Amino acid sequence: MQELHDAPLAPLTTLRIGGPAGRLVTATTDDEVVAVVRAADQAGEPLLVLGGGSNLVIGDAGFPGTVLRIATKGFALDGTTLELAAGEVWSDAVDTAVLEHGLAGIEFLAGIPGSAGATPVQNVGAYGQEVSQTITEVVAYDRRAGETVTVSAEDCAFAYRHSRFKAEPDRWVVLRVRFALEDADGMSTPVRYAEAARTMGVGPGERVELRAAREAVLKLRSGKGMVLDPEDHDTWSAGSFFTNPILTEAEHAAFLARVAERLGADVQAPAYEAGAGHKKTSAAWLIDKAGFTKGYGAGPARLSTKHTLALTNRGTATAADLLALAREIQTGVADAFGVTLVNEPVMVGVSL
Ligand SMILES: Cc1cc2nc3c(=O)[nH]c(=O)nc-3n(C[C@H](O)[C@H](O)[C@H](O)COP(=O)(O)OP(=O)(O)OC[C@H]3O[C@@H](n4cnc5c(N)ncnc54)[C@H](O)[C@@H]3O)c2cc1C
Repeated sequence: MQELHDAPLAPLTTLRIGGPAGRLVTATTDDEVVAVVRAADQAGEPLLVLGGGSNLVIGDAGFPGTVLRIATKGFALDGTTLELAAGEVWSDAVDTAVLEHGLAGIEFLAGIPGSAGATPVQNVGAYGQEVSQTITEVVAYDRRAGETVTVSAEDCAFAYRHSRFKAEPDRWVVLRVRFALEDADGMSTPVRYAEAARTMGVGPGERVELRAAREAVLKLRSGKGMVLDPEDHDTWSAGSFFTNPILTEAEHAAFLARVAERLGADVQAPAYEAGAGHKKTSAAWLIDKAGFTKGYGAGPARLSTKHTLALTNRGTATAADLLALAREIQTGVADAFGVTLVNEPVMVGVSL
């Protein structure tokens, strides 16, 4: 177990933003993780659990307590059941499952940065797959009960970019995640996402070769700056900065009226089914149509030149710079369309 004091956190995040940790502890076994959490809780010390730092905006003042960096390792396959230690690099685990074992279920989640342990936290998803579709159990340390428990998928309260773990951030530390994958003879799960289906020349609902699915997704993601590349500032982000708004039918009708008023009656805003009585629209579309086009911004924090949904650090941005841009966009979209965007990344010591 490694321990550092007054350690810089910015290099441990994909945004490369944020002040130092009072204490930074790196744990490499589940026992170490639990011991650090217990000790911090007993001492009444603030605790921040850190995976790959790809969904975090850490304030410029840093984090005064203990930052626990989870660096546990473990990829265990039993038939089609996969158990990953929380510290496994998610995209490497996807590659191994797909390329070495020919297993389907997480192939459309290739290239997503961060750790396996964080995937249930916001029910990571892309291109029609979400981890909630394959997770069977999460082994987690329950800080309230002071014990390690196994949480079944039904008890994870998975929703769009949400879960019980995100709802109760000071309660759970994920140690292991179990997935039920599928052996589909080298084929993917049915393609659900229209853009991915189009790219692969199939109709929605068809299966494609597993490796081809992974490659297509990586190509689509790279084109949007959504695969980490230290040389490319468009990827110095936390991925999508805002979630896609989910509107009630009444809100959606009011929104469509605003769209017609502002952009003309012939303009169609993206709309997707989002459960009974709800519609989801696209945050990226709203941002663009409110006038914040790709590359928007004049300072060190700007929109990605490849995707309006990624707020990026062009090299010297602070959390204050990034949040000023985020607020400008949030206000601009609300003024234009009456929809309040909600941040997807977790804010540490700051808020929008
Ligand atoms: C370029 C880019 C593209 C992205 N694309 C996508 C995408 O397509 N889909 C998507 O869903 N997300 C995407 N993201 C967001 C991000 O990759 C995911 O949310 C990822 O799961 C975060 O993992 P992490 O280990 O980096 O978590 P961190 O950023 O380290 O932490 C995020 C939150 O999870 C908590 N946490 C981390 N590990 C644990 C644990 N073991 N137990 C309990 N809590 C924990 C932290 O305390 C924090 O609250 C993208 C990010 C980037 C930078």
